[in-house]
Amino acid sequence: MTTQSQGAPVIPAGAPAVSPVPADRDVAADRDIIAALPAAAKVRLLTGADSWRTHGDPVIGLRPMVTSDGPAGVRGTLRDERYPSASLPCPSALGATWDAGLVGRLATALGVEARSKDVDILLAPTINLMRTPLGGRGFEFFAEDPVLTARLAVAYVRGLQRTGVAATLKHYVGNDSETGRWTYDARIGETVLRELYLVPFEACVREAGAWLVMAAYNKVNGTRMTENLRLLRDVLKNEWGFDGVVISDWSAARSTHATAAATLDLSMPGPEGPWGDQLTEAVLDGTVSEELLNDKVIRLLRLASRVGAAPDGARPPRLVDPGLLRTVAAESFVLLRNEAGALPLDPQAIRTLAVIGPNAVYPTVQGGGSAGVTPVSVSTPADGLRAALDGRAEVVTAPGCRTWHTLPEPPASWLCDPVTGEQGVRLEFTDGDGAVLGAEHRGSANLTWWDAPHDLGWGQPGRVTLTTVFQAPRDGTYEFGAAGVGALTLTVDGVQVIDGVTPVPEDPVEAMTRPGELRAACWLEADSGTALRLEFRPAADGAGPVSFRLGLVPAADDETLLAEAEAAAVAADAAIVVVGSAELTESEGFDRATLALPGRQDELVHRVAAINPNTIVVVNSGMPVLTPWAGQVAAIVHAWMPGQAFGDALADVLLGAAEPGGRLPVTFPASEADAPVLHATPAQDDALDYAEGLLVGYRGYDASGTAPRYPFGHGLGYTSWAYESADCPASLAEGEDLEIAVTVENTGQRPGKEVIQAYLAGPDQAGPVPRPPRVLAAFAVVRAEPGERVTVRLTIPARAFARYDEDLATWIWPGGEWTVYVGRSSRDLPLFVQVR
Ligand code: BGC
Repeated sequence: MTTQSQGAPVIPAGAPAVSPVPADRDVAADRDIIAALPAAAKVRLLTGADSWRTHGDPVIGLRPMVTSDGPAGVRGTLRDERYPSASLPCPSALGATWDAGLVGRLATALGVEARSKDVDILLAPTINLMRTPLGGRGFEFFAEDPVLTARLAVAYVRGLQRTGVAATLKHYVGNDSETGRWTYDARIGETVLRELYLVPFEACVREAGAWLVMAAYNKVNGTRMTENLRLLRDVLKNEWGFDGVVISDWSAARSTHATAAATLDLSMPGPEGPWGDQLTEAVLDGTVSEELLNDKVIRLLRLASRVGAAPDGARPPRLVDPGLLRTVAAESFVLLRNEAGALPLDPQAIRTLAVIGPNAVYPTVQGGGSAGVTPVSVSTPADGLRAALDGRAEVVTAPGCRTWHTLPEPPASWLCDPVTGEQGVRLEFTDGDGAVLGAEHRGSANLTWWDAPHDLGWGQPGRVTLTTVFQAPRDGTYEFGAAGVGALTLTVDGVQVIDGVTPVPEDPVEAMTRPGELRAACWLEADSGTALRLEFRPAADGAGPVSFRLGLVPAADDETLLAEAEAAAVAADAAIVVVGSAELTESEGFDRATLALPGRQDELVHRVAAINPNTIVVVNSGMPVLTPWAGQVAAIVHAWMPGQAFGDALADVLLGAAEPGGRLPVTFPASEADAPVLHATPAQDDALDYAEGLLVGYRGYDASGTAPRYPFGHGLGYTSWAYESADCPASLAEGEDLEIAVTVENTGQRPGKEVIQAYLAGPDQAGPVPRPPRVLAAFAVVRAEPGERVTVRLTIPARAFARYDEDLATWIWPGGEWTVYVGRSSRDLPLFVQVR
């Protein structure tokens, strides 16, 4: 068996027929259609009808279109456990697959799910770059490298749009970190923009024909992206030929004239916004031309015909196949270290397995913020290993220490709706005068609304009251957390234990990602049900989603948890220590403050490794963390935020049913000081200077000669490979692609996957922008049986040999001698060829 994949997504078996994308619309006819519309009717179409929908207009045959966040699932217009979604591995995990074919397949399955939920526009993929490993939203990006990002993003867009669901390239551009994202001014030189940050956007527009681009919150070089005439009109639309819709990030449009003139097409969300009557007036008084307005409407009509005229929502929704999610997760896991073949474990040789660590029990399967979905179900590492070893070995679990920022939501089985008797909670909505507007049963105590729930007209100054009966699993002290932006009161069996107000965050998304939490602790007995009543009054001046939750855990101190973990490890044949980010460590809205694991997790690993020589660490984080214990443990698997299939995929990989297929899409530093860019904190005047220029990620490490802990492209797998030869023509004409034939052999005992990587080093050139020694130019996934030799053809596109010339404002092809290095990571490149 030999396969090679570089693109071409395949529609999964059983997918419904997709609507063919209509040929491009006749713009002249569209002009006639909209000629009859008054300006106000046209303007109405250009702002959302609510948080997620656009307006339609029957006169011109335009129906409302529905948007939904991605990229790691299709949430739909509600975040609600009654409408669950498939939870995919996060995009940095997809980056780690280096497999465009697989990413395309997954995106097609996602498109099928979106269509079945009546979603027309997926707000994905996120194609900013991992400029800093601290970036709060790095888990939503594919890579630190523009070529890897572009190849995977093109596959994602094609895979998605072939189902008739629109992709939205976001966030255009310079939203590579979160701190101050609403206002910061990313100062990025033109060469750096062209050769790094615009690369994935340009590829997705030119090669994949993406249907929407989202204008970011931030400024670039002094101008807000929603008002950036040069980057929106001149570069995106005129130079690259983008014929789709430029949509604002949510509430990013903050002016009338400047946004309209810059060719922003759709302002979201609605119904409020800076356009409406003001834009109509501007068109009527001639300060915004009708032509400009018409172009926006024409683009919307084109989009509507691309996503199909009629929704074809299937019932029930067709969620992404859990088997595919499990495969992709295993393909993304990166085996960073494997001393003496510690992995895979031999299931026959294990009697007792200790599964330790906070993330073994409370895994972080997705990052925080708009990308979150409510998964159908989650397999935790403890569940997955227990199921895989059922009847063969004993699995002992111990959380080891506490890391959470807000207390975890209790399992639904602990809670009982006092009215219906079902598992879960009762909610009652009350208006400002105390009149009850409605009530409902919910299966979760973690609640979010973008728009007033159930059209009750509920909102500020309303109130929602959660009641439930808690059945404590054993006698003991329990900790309660009440989280939300506003006033919170909790009574436990009629006794008030929490009464307070949490602060209003600066970034509205934090109302959902990290609302303030008030805590209390009570001693409870196991066999008596305890009545809980949590009342929440959202802050009147709070913006963004309304979100609140009840957290509930048995109280425990770290010393006890650490000692329990040691006791579990000492008696086990192997200890799997699952560490990583807590639920809100990595999120939209803010960057991390440190690369260190939260809480006492480093100490936990040290202590377990000191006791059990077969200590295998699994890191559950969307981005790099520091691994000060790396030299002391037998193996390390980086598992990203793998979505709902975490535990099952982990069991597959640890027990050898699947190979860890991942390679790092981002460099792992040995210490924070080594990262070429660390804190991306805007200066006093809000400037965020991209002073490192082109030297981001491995490019920076290579330029400074700094050794990373684990280099970009690294990952071990379960077999071994010999790199035998690389061949290419000796010379190349300007503007030509380069084909290289690379032969490798699987020299190990197992079938395996290898990611062959080609890095390009150009002729020396002094110039204003320091250049990295070499950059990723092409890659391919190969799979081969033991002893099998495979030849793969890599294509290095002509553009890889070009430079952006700022004076000439164009791409140029400098002559000279180029070297292509070929190998298995940015620091393990055994072959090279030269070309003139
Ligand atoms: C995020 C976008 C997201 C939008 C809608 C914004 O805060 O930056 O990525 O699509 O919200 O949820």
